[in-house]
Amino acid sequence: MKITLTKQKKAKPDYSKLGFGKYFTDHMLVMDYKDGKWQEPEIMPYQPFALDPSTCVLHYGQGIFEGLKAYKNKDGKITMFRPYDNFRRMNRSAARLCMPALDIEETVENLKKLIMIDEDWIPTEPGTALYIRPTMIATDPMLGVHPGHTYRFFIILSPVGSYYESGLTPTKIMIENEYVRAPLGGTGEAKCMGNYAASLLAGDIANKHGYEQVLWLDAKEKKYVEEVGAMNMFFVFDGVVKTPALVGSILPGITRDSVIRVLEHEGMPVEECRISVDDIRNAIKSGHMDEAFGSGTAAVISPVGVLGIDGEDMVINNFEMGKITAFLYDKLTGIQTGRYADPFGWVVHVN
Ligand SMILES: *Cc1c(COP(=O)(O)O)cnc(C)c1O
Repeated sequence: MKITLTKQKKAKPDYSKLGFGKYFTDHMLVMDYKDGKWQEPEIMPYQPFALDPSTCVLHYGQGIFEGLKAYKNKDGKITMFRPYDNFRRMNRSAARLCMPALDIEETVENLKKLIMIDEDWIPTEPGTALYIRPTMIATDPMLGVHPGHTYRFFIILSPVGSYYESGLTPTKIMIENEYVRAPLGGTGEAKCMGNYAASLLAGDIANKHGYEQVLWLDAKEKKYVEEVGAMNMFFVFDGVVKTPALVGSILPGITRDSVIRVLEHEGMPVEECRISVDDIRNAIKSGHMDEAFGSGTAAVISPVGVLGIDGEDMVINNFEMGKITAFLYDKLTGIQTGRYADPFGWVVHVN
């Protein structure tokens, strides 16, 4: 791999006010695909790309991405959480969008090199991490809707704090009745760019009404809950944890899978099933909904305090974080940062 180091290191941000995705490290990894194969990857100074205005991805959205995190502990040990699963999922997204697959082992090894070069950017304050954003775009400079022949894969790194400005306080989420995220047979399972562009309007309207995010319903009947913008959802009905089954329109979250496996390990099997809005409304009304939370790499675990259903704000657990939610946040962040043992083999050492 070719490595070109920056001559001018950037000033570090204030690590107590990182927010999410606002700062980027000194270097990035870039690898181009042409003539039917991936070319030599290169680590280079973080810089803008020059793209022809006709570049495919700019017009037709043939682009996919991933999100994962690296952590540094007090002894300087650097780890990543389930990176192989992220690149496996990226290859599934690539297949869905007619894009080439990556060599997973090699990509993880190259990512480790990139992280080590920018290791002084990894924040260590509680709740912070180095967010890793692998991305792949179609780069053919021509108009016409067909799969590209040339692609660019790149990885950028961003030191982050908590995803929501409010941190671990419960969020207000609106059940979206009008717009849908992904129909069956669509691209809901893929982490592809268009899914997020399509979600913006509903999110914007929800924000104006005082909600942080929307909870999407199935596109066909608008009856069953699916997921939130960048989080999968869990509901605790009378002590039983349930999550929408992966029917094809839901993004298969790695944090979702981690929640299911941690709870299984604790002797609390999670039911993967269809969950209707009516079930949720009735459970909240009759006091049978103990907790609700979202799961995703960015926020890890995020308690839900209010669900807006048909214009009515329904409060869950007195707008407080529930026991299982708190347990999972502690357990997962503990495994991720090395505070707890990792019986699952999820943690991958970088140094
Ligand atoms: C990324 C994402 C998630 C969460 O996936 P993780 O692997 O847990 O980060 C959930 N839903 C959507 C739509 C996403 O894009």
